[in-house]
Parts: sequence; C-alpha cells; structure tokens
Amino acid sequence: MINVTKPFLPPISEYNEYLKGIWERNWLTNNGPLVNELELKLKDYLLLDHLLYLTNGTIAIQIAIKALKLTGEIITTPFSYIATTSSVIWEGCIPVFADIDPDTLNIDPKSIEERITNRTSAILATHVYGNPCNIELIDEIAKKYNLKVIYDAAHAFGVKYKGRSIFEYGDISTTSFHATKVFHTVEGGAVISKDPELIRIMSKMRNFGHSGPESFELVGINGKNSEFHAAMGLVNLTYIDRIIASRKQQALQYNKTLATLNVKKQFILEVTEWNYSYYPIIFETEALLLKCMKELNDNWIFPRRYFYPSLSNLEFVTNYETPICNDFCKRVLCLPMYYTLSTEEIDFISRILLRSQNN
Ligand SMILES: *Cc1c(COP(=O)(O)O)cnc(C)c1O
Repeated sequence: MINVTKPFLPPISEYNEYLKGIWERNWLTNNGPLVNELELKLKDYLLLDHLLYLTNGTIAIQIAIKALKLTGEIITTPFSYIATTSSVIWEGCIPVFADIDPDTLNIDPKSIEERITNRTSAILATHVYGNPCNIELIDEIAKKYNLKVIYDAAHAFGVKYKGRSIFEYGDISTTSFHATKVFHTVEGGAVISKDPELIRIMSKMRNFGHSGPESFELVGINGKNSEFHAAMGLVNLTYIDRIIASRKQQALQYNKTLATLNVKKQFILEVTEWNYSYYPIIFETEALLLKCMKELNDNWIFPRRYFYPSLSNLEFVTNYETPICNDFCKRVLCLPMYYTLSTEEIDFISRILLRSQNN
C-alpha cells in the first residue's frame, strides 16, 4: 500500500540514546532540557530570534489568536486544513472567507480587502503546501486597516522567502510538527514572532498562565510538549536536509514522468526556496480527478484530496462566496511523497495516472 505520506522514522538506536538521558534525569515534561535544546536548535537551523515549542499546530493557532486578543471577524482562507477555521471559532471569533488565487492557491489579497468590515480584527492566512502567501500585499492591507496577521505555516518548515525563513512574517506565524509534516516530532507545533512581548505572553499561555509556582499572570492553557516528543525532533532535525533533498528529487521525477499528464501545477514564486512538502496536481475536471483516484485506489495507492471540501462550505460557518476555491478544491489531488518512496513506485503511480487519462 502506498499512502499520500508516511511519517519519517530515524534509526531506533538514535532515539534510544535520548531515552537513556530521559530515564537518568527522570524529567519527562514541563520545559525540560530536551525541549529547550530543540527550541535552540530549531532557532539556529531556521535563523529565528524566537520560537516556542508547543503541543501541536492547532494549539499554536489558538494561542496566537489569544495572545493578539483578537475578537469579532477574522478573514481567512477556505483552502486549508480544517484546524485553520476551527481554531478561529474555538476562540470565539467568526471566520470570514476570502477567495483564493487560482495560480498560487493562497488567499487572494484583493478578496481580503473586499471582506473587511469594522468588526475585522485580523487576517489568518495559510502558506498552502508551503508556498508563501502574497506577504507584501497582505502586510500593506493589514497596515492600512490596522489588522493583525497570523500565518498558518504548518506546511512551510524550512521554506525561505527572499532569503529569510517564511516563519518570520506576520505578527505571529504558527507551524505544525505533526507526524505527517516534513519535519515532525510525532505531535508538536510552534509559534514564532519577532515581538519579544508576544513571545513572553505566549510562553506564559502555554504553561497555564503560571508566573511562579503559586502565581498566575493570565488565563493559560496546557500547550507544553514533552521530552519524548522533543527527542524525536532532535533526531529528525539531523535528517531534515536529506528529507527535503529527497522530496525535491521525487518532485523532479514526478515532473518528468507526468510531463504529458493534462494537469496544472501550483505556481511557486521564484524568490522562494521551497520544501516540496506536497505534490499537488490540478485536474481539468473533478470527474477526471475521481477517475484517476479510483484507478490509483484499485492499485492500493491512496493520494489525498488536500483540501476538500472548501472550508467556506462547512455547516458551522457563515457562507461567503468563494467560487475559485469551490472550483479548485474539487480538482486538486496530492500525490504520494515521503522519504522512503522509491523511484519505481513513482514510475508506477505515474503510469497509472497516464493510463487512466487515456482511457
Ligand atoms: C497539519 C495542519 C494543522 C494542524 O496541525 P496539528 O499539529 O495537527 O494540530 C493546521 N493547519 C494546517 C494547514 C495543517 O496542515
């Protein structure tokens, strides 16, 4: 069976080395030494001033919304994983959907501006498949209307935009280190900000609001992560360059083997150093997508429709017209891509796709 992704696992002996230390110290969670080491190494690798390691990427978005004290309406993208939208609602705010750009599949700044009301407090945009949003325009709009910006950068580990980590942009960037992501710690996530005061507040928030053993500065939550998760991150970080390089090779192979497949690709800006976190293809029609998917499934290959359905069509949100997203989300399919996927398997997947196109 070939799934859309398979979590990376390092040699077990390398993880065991860290376990020995955990057993010796008997320090399992609560800002332990491995959590601290992981935060330092991540900041070092990504060239960031501040980063807080959290339970997961969803709590990261929720803490970001809380820390920025957002209320009312948050303009967001309908083309993302559900956590982007559900976090807004969970925090008592209203998701307002802007449409997406048909080339980049990211939120369309023009559409953002059309959805601004006097209740809008922020923009929450996803760098879809790690492809950077139109950061300059979003920043301009945010300044013009005095809005905060959060980037859901769950797909964007290691992505550089104009030479800098994509995590540096927005008031706060959030990311996920879930097992299915390019870099993972089994479960995990982070918030990144250049504002030391926001970082200070969020570091309190992730630890119940504690300011001392018997004092509490604010209402917090349990957003901490454990030594076991940090250990996985520390080992996986030593493989990240190899992981991204192998994904690049796989993407180049797909580009070649699928050259005659009648699909469109997501447009990635030249100034981007991408992480190849997904391999999306855009079919001409949903019928074609379904036909190819069935053929793949019959051969025990399971690509995924990231992201379907459009979040603007969920039952618990206010409906906003997002015709471009409604159309594209029916036609995008993400093909399998993971560290141990072989060139033969990519050839096999490609042959099936080409064959079903011609049938
Ligand atoms: C994976 C993902 C999340 C959620 O991250 P978790 O760590 O699983 O909570 C949020 N947004 C997007 C776009 C994602 O892909």
